[in-house]
This record gives sequence, C-alpha cells and structure tokens, in this order.
Amino acid sequence: MKFGGTSVADASCIARVIDILEQHHKKGDELAVVVSAQRGVTDQLIEISTRLPVSKDASAIDLLIPSLRTRHMTTLEGAAPGFVHEIGPIIEERLQELSNILHAVYSLRELTPRSKDYIISYGERLLAPIVGAALEQRGISSVVMDGCEAGIVTTSQHGESTAIPECDERIQRRIRPVLKKSVPVIMGFMGCTPEGNFTTLGRSGSDYSASIIGAGIDANEIWFWTDVDGIMTSDPRVINDARVMPELSYLEVMELSYFGAKVMHPRSIEPAMRKNILVRVKNTFNPSHPGTTIVRNQRPDPRIVKALTYIEKVAAVNINGAQMIGRPGVARAIFSALADRDVNVMMISQGSSEANISLIIDEAHLDIAAEALAPLLSQGIVREVIQNRNVAAVAVVGSGMVGAPGTGGRIFTALGKAGVNVMMISQGSCEANISFVVRQEDGPRAVRVLHDEFRLSEAMDE
Ligand code: ADP
Ligand code: ASP
Ligand code: MG
Repeated sequence: MKFGGTSVADASCIARVIDILEQHHKKGDELAVVVSAQRGVTDQLIEISTRLPVSKDASAIDLLIPSLRTRHMTTLEGAAPGFVHEIGPIIEERLQELSNILHAVYSLRELTPRSKDYIISYGERLLAPIVGAALEQRGISSVVMDGCEAGIVTTSQHGESTAIPECDERIQRRIRPVLKKSVPVIMGFMGCTPEGNFTTLGRSGSDYSASIIGAGIDANEIWFWTDVDGIMTSDPRVINDARVMPELSYLEVMELSYFGAKVMHPRSIEPAMRKNILVRVKNTFNPSHPGTTIVRNQRPDPRIVKALTYIEKVAAVNINGAQMIGRPGVARAIFSALADRDVNVMMISQGSSEANISLIIDEAHLDIAAEALAPLLSQGIVREVIQNRNVAAVAVVGSGMVGAPGTGGRIFTALGKAGVNVMMISQGSCEANISFVVRQEDGPRAVRVLHDEFRLSEAMDE
C-alpha cells in the first residue's frame, strides 16, 4: 500500500492511514507500506536546491529548516505522542544533515544531479519514521527502511532512474522476512545504483516504488491510496464533472499516465503488469468507495473512449530541410543525438515529403534538445530547427478503440466544430491511444469538447 503526499499531510491524515492499515492488519493481511513526502515538501526541496547556487545569501536555508522542523514535529506529536523522545532526535539529525548539505551547495555554488537527488529525498526521509512510530503507537510493529535498504536498485539517471532486474531478488530477500513479524514502512521515490549511488525515480516516484516493491515480493495486490476516489475520465481540476472509472486495463493506465494523467507515475504500472498483480487506486479520505481496479483484461465495456489527458508542459520541435528527402539515416541521426542527451520524445510525425520531422518533447528538455541538434545543422544534415513552447498534447485513451473504425473521425470533427486547430496527430500501434497537439490555450477546451462528445461524465457501466 502506498500513501501519497495528501494522505500523510498532517497528523489527522496519518491517523486515517493508520486506521486503514490497522483494519487490514487485524484481518491478518501481510502489509508492506510505501510513503511519500508530506504534500509540498518535495517542491520546497527542489525549489531551494535549484535556487541556492545563484542566491546572494543562504537565508532561505534558515527559513526552510525551521518550517520543516515545526511541520514534522507537530505531525509526530499528533500521530505518535508516545514516540516523540525516540523519533524527535532522528528528525533533528536529518534536518541537521539537510542543512549541512544545503550550506555546501550554497558555498560551492554548484548543484550536481547526484546531490540534488539526495536533497530532494529528505521529504521521505523525514516522514517515514513518523508513520512507523504511528503504527507502533497502535501496537503494530514496524520497520522503517529507505529505498536502497528495501532493495530498489536502479539505473544511474539521476532524477529519473528506473528499476533494474536485480530488484526482485533483493527485495524478496530484504522485505519478505520483515513481513512475517512487522510492517515495513519504506521511503518512496528513491533507490540506488548497483554501485550504491543514491538516485530518485522522478516526480511522483513513490508510486513507482510501490509497484517495484509489490512486484518484488509477489504481492497479491498493489494499492495506491490518494486524495481522489480513483482514476477519473479526466483531470478533475480541468473537467469539473470528471467521473471515476471503476475498471481500467494496465494498457489504458499506462497510456494515461504516460500522457500526463497526474494521478500516477508513468512507470508505475510496468512492474505490476510484469507480475500480473491487480492494482487498486483508492481514496484515503473515502476508503469505502471501491475506487479503480486495474487489471490485464477488463470485463467487456461498451465504452470506446475511456479517458482523456492533457499535458501543458511540452514543446514542439520542427526539423526542416530538403536535404532530408530520400536520404537514409537522417532520422537515425536526429534520434540518436536526442537519445544521447536523454531527451524523451513523446510524439513523432514525419510528413510524406520527408522534408519535415516534428517531435513533441518535455518542455524541460527543450534547451538540451536544441544543443543536441545543433551539430546536425552545422553538418548540413538538416536546414532548420524551429521550437514552439506554446503547445499542449491531448491524449484520448480507451482499449475499445482497437479495431473500432470512426473514432478518429469523431474526435477531429468535434474539435473542428469547436474551432480547435490541431497541429499534429499521432496514433500508437496499440491503437488504445490517439494523441494530438494543439495551441496551449486550446488544451483545456479540447479536453472539454471531447469529454462531452464521448459523454464521459455519464455513468454507463456501474
Ligand atoms: P498523491 O500525493 O496521492 O500521489 P497526486 O497529487 O500525485 O496524489 O495525484 C492525485 C491527483 O491527481 C488528484 O488529486 C487529481 O487532482 C489529479 N489528477 C489528474 N488527472 C487525474 C485523473 N485522470 N484521475 C484522477 N486524478 C487525477
Ligand atoms: N515526494 C515525491 C514527489 O513529490 C514522490 C511522490 O510524491 O510520489 O514527487
Ligand atoms: Mg503522486
């Protein structure tokens, strides 16, 4: 079971988490728990670590550390009053370490990817001992572990590492013996390379941690506890009448999370799918709601389109040049230049004249992409590279689209009628996803139009 930032935001939230765990513990379920940082803490750590190397003074550290102390000590006092003497000093020690590392970043005026990873993991490091103590307070034995101790071994890409196959055996060895006697409380979001270098798994990475751990211990089920009733037909912050989907397939959730559904880390289904483990998404604040169940093959569903997502922070890169026509190897040169710099390409389209290749990438990768492509310009392999930040990607997801003709027609007719201009279209070979690119300001409207077109706010299958 994984609990997200809102679920552990303060002592009263943690009390709900412990209620849930206690109920399962009493039934005799063996439980492993993954926790993320308290809501907002990772953002604060990212913000300060990137700001310090260019700050005029270190005063931000003197503001952050006391505020983290107050927040975590208040949470500890409320969630585990009998353990303040034992856990208080651990929190104090971690805050001291964090303060020292932040002062070093300020003095050196340098933030390496490795030190950034270490700093931003402190939200989880501060919180997990509190959740462990809150379990003990209710008489449930717990063992607090960081991601490396739990056996999560990763690639070395700092900030977005992925689990490697050795994980399963290590996790089995480290977690299985604990499960018999205690509840392991594992810090999400982090792991380490086979050489022992510390890494993080990317934003929302504690989802991924939970799935890696679940697959590692061959769990019967993996549950994500969050602050909404389940995975919805669209982001409820964009579409106010979005509805909870009772059941989705692994494939659908992978497409949704990959194309920006903020509800889950893009890789969090992979490990579960590999071991065919049932996944549930449930609301910590409404635990009797059945939530969303995620399985390999769902029951037949009349719905063709299940859900929509929309990503704002993407950029388009248009690569032009007549030299590209009929010349083999140009695409390879482009993609290997981008891959060498770890630029993740989300969508690709090539005009039939071959004089143009358009890519959609994460907006944060745009500068690196431009640098990576610059040598191709100077070598005359391509003529021009045009960037456009003012774009948004929308994905229409549903396994019912596979082999069902006409969905594309319906999508683009509805958008055309609403006056939304579509700049680029792509359909994966799995056919469970049609994605397209629009101007950024048209993104929310495009989602609204399609949510209505496919009547996603109306219940059909419950
Ligand atoms: P946690 O901290 O529990 O991991 P997150 O904030 O990361 O929670 O993710 C849950 C949030 O994701 C919800 O509060 C909701 O606003 C947002 N969200 C975006 N798209 C969706 C969607 N399709 N279904 C459900 N929630 C979504
Ligand atoms: N705390 C991390 C983040 O904010 C991981 C997570 O919440 O899943 O991204
Ligand atoms: Mg999350």
